Amino acid sequence: SKAKLFDQNTEVKTTFKDVAGLEGAKEEVQEIVDFLRYPEKYTTLGGKIPKGALLVGPPGTGKTLLARAVAGEAKVPFFSLSGSDFVEMFVGVGASRVRDLFKQAKEKSPSIIFIDEIDAIGRARGKNAMSGSNDERENTLNQLLTEMDGFGTNTNVIVMAATNRADILDKALMRAGRFDRQIFVDLPDIRERKEIFEVHLRPLKKTKDLDLDFLSRQTPGFSGADIANVCNEAALIAARNGKKAVDKQDFLDAVDRIIGGLEKKNKIIT
Ligand code: ATP
Repeated sequence: SKAKLFDQNTEVKTTFKDVAGLEGAKEEVQEIVDFLRYPEKYTTLGGKIPKGALLVGPPGTGKTLLARAVAGEAKVPFFSLSGSDFVEMFVGVGASRVRDLFKQAKEKSPSIIFIDEIDAIGRARGKNAMSGSNDERENTLNQLLTEMDGFGTNTNVIVMAATNRADILDKALMRAGRFDRQIFVDLPDIRERKEIFEVHLRPLKKTKDLDLDFLSRQTPGFSGADIANVCNEAALIAARNGKKAVDKQDFLDAVDRIIGGLEKKNKIIT
């Protein structure tokens, strides 16, 4: 069978309720939801609806989640692919995949295109020009720029992209009419960690003595993804020990485990 070119989700269930914290970012993307739902409100006044927004922040902070929630709130289809899928791709495949993606999104408009890890294709051009795969990356990037420039003002497709390396992106991507909006998605502070715990504790059967303030204090530096992992790991630990509900000790053990994993990861990087 033909390999899947990109993910397409026409009925996104994720909403802002699933995204804890990130108040500032949510406020900024609320406007995108508005553009998608009521484009006339903006175009009748002669305004140009923005085409692209770049979500910038560390791994696991909810960038993908937030983009998906925009689609869910606006009730529009969500098309997504990851920049890392383009690495090691045969000549011409990357560009044609991008072309296809935009074609489909336009057919289903209003819609959202989401490109995760855009730095994998959007790194500044002209560096390491010797390697062949790099040429292909440039072709893909050029196609992306061409597609965004080709959008009419009433195309009603908004392109969201995510990166944790905005500093290495080709400046051409940030030009007016492309990803001219940057939205910062940071690691959660203690209050936000508590909110993220609330979201991920919802589906768990847990004991009454669980103290969310305590858990939030125990997890400085954790991302939303780390906290989601803690909650899942705690449930697995409780199940392994034959418990009827997840308790405080299970969470402490899970936090230890995740910290162990983070330390290992950092050791490999540095
Ligand atoms: P990456 O840069 O690694 O792709 P990301 O910023 O796109 O990461 P997501 O993939 O959105 O992060 O987050 C992974 C998972 O972590 C989410 O599916 C969700 O379960 C949880 N999560 C992250 N941030 C939040 C948040 N703010 N609220 C609730 N859950 C969160």
